[in-house]
Amino acid sequence: MTEPAIRASGLQKRYGDVQALDDLELTVEQGEFFGLLGPNGAGKTTFINTLVGLVHKDGGTAEVFGFDVEDDYREVRDRIGVAPQEFNVDRFFPIIEVLEHKAGYHGISRAEARERAEDALKTVGIWDKRDTRFDWLSGGMKRRFVLARALVSNPDLLILDEPTAGVDVQLRHDLWEIINRMNDAGTTILLTTHYIEEAERLCDRVAIMDDGRKVEVATPDDLMARGTDTIVLELAE
Ligand code: ATP
Repeated sequence: MTEPAIRASGLQKRYGDVQALDDLELTVEQGEFFGLLGPNGAGKTTFINTLVGLVHKDGGTAEVFGFDVEDDYREVRDRIGVAPQEFNVDRFFPIIEVLEHKAGYHGISRAEARERAEDALKTVGIWDKRDTRFDWLSGGMKRRFVLARALVSNPDLLILDEPTAGVDVQLRHDLWEIINRMNDAGTTILLTTHYIEEAERLCDRVAIMDDGRKVEVATPDDLMARGTDTIVLELAE
């Protein structure tokens, strides 16, 4: 039997008085394009951080491709690529070198790391900026770069935390096209967004989160058909 790409069960995380994840249950199948929708503070980023080992859960289980994200983190880390909402990138090196380093962390040989870095920059459309430092890129190019960084290890699961928040329409469409191509090639995608239109365009299924819990799972068409749904209206603002 094929393991799901992501399986979370009874997941708990508390920060002081805030219950950021409250008994979260969620399964994402391999190859799916899965959206995570929810208002600010719903727990989307906390969930992602739990999957990638940045947050230590208080309870429950979280597995990626059947491996526990904490006990088997070595199995998990090379299979996930993450484009986080907030990124901290080495500012002193040309971006192609930053990507080569990143590939090196995943145990990729030097020669192959160069090739992967080149491919990733070409995929996201900033090959001509390869010798530029991160700080010197425009805001839109930074977004593209963060996606390239997530791709450089050829992940089986690509996690994108609000990849198009605040970007212009052209870049949004470019990013959609790139991400869609990754999914068509077999990469499982988990994407968080506030835009119902984005979910509708891209996702096979979406989960609505609120207060650290999953409220429901539906197809984007179902959500759009229920255009008066309060949650959707809030998200569309
Ligand atoms: P957004 O859409 O605004 O990014 P989100 O759905 O990603 O929101 P989280 O960032 O996961 O939500 O936050 C969930 C809750 O946990 C919020 O109440 C937030 O304030 C709280 N929280 C998140 N990280 C921390 C932290 N490091 N310390 C304390 N509280 C935190």
